[in-house]
Amino acid sequence: MERNSNNVRELSLFPEDDTESEERQEVDKIDLQPLFYRLAKSKFRSSFYLNAKDKAYIKEKGWDKIEQGTRETIAKRLAPAFIPNDGKQTPMRHGIFPPFIAQHATGCCCRGCLEKWHGIPKGRPLTVKEQIYTTRVIMEWLRRNDL
Ligand SMILES: [Zn+2]
Repeated sequence: MERNSNNVRELSLFPEDDTESEERQEVDKIDLQPLFYRLAKSKFRSSFYLNAKDKAYIKEKGWDKIEQGTRETIAKRLAPAFIPNDGKQTPMRHGIFPPFIAQHATGCCCRGCLEKWHGIPKGRPLTVKEQIYTTRVIMEWLRRNDL
């Protein structure tokens, strides 16, 4: 088990040899539709979209790489108990890394928004299950918006 300075258990980057399958199965059972309805009602959250640069980025990298990058981003920028620049760690610009846009669109951009939108409390590290959940929400938004 890897630990960083904030004692976060990091997600395995290689799902084939991980021990997270139980958590993954539980997260897969969560119905995300109610969340997506709530997000659609927010003027701010529903204002985010993927532009041509973002879509080209996804096409070039492929979904597996996008998901791996999302997991790494969550482990580094969201999972620690304390994040000095919380609320400012996720860029809003198009064309850098499309999951950043998805994070804003889904309330997964900072610990404040994770608490407000997903009921995940601030001030403690994210569990592996919460990291898997956040990744799933972001990937789901990307797939729905990469049309
Ligand atoms: Zn936020």
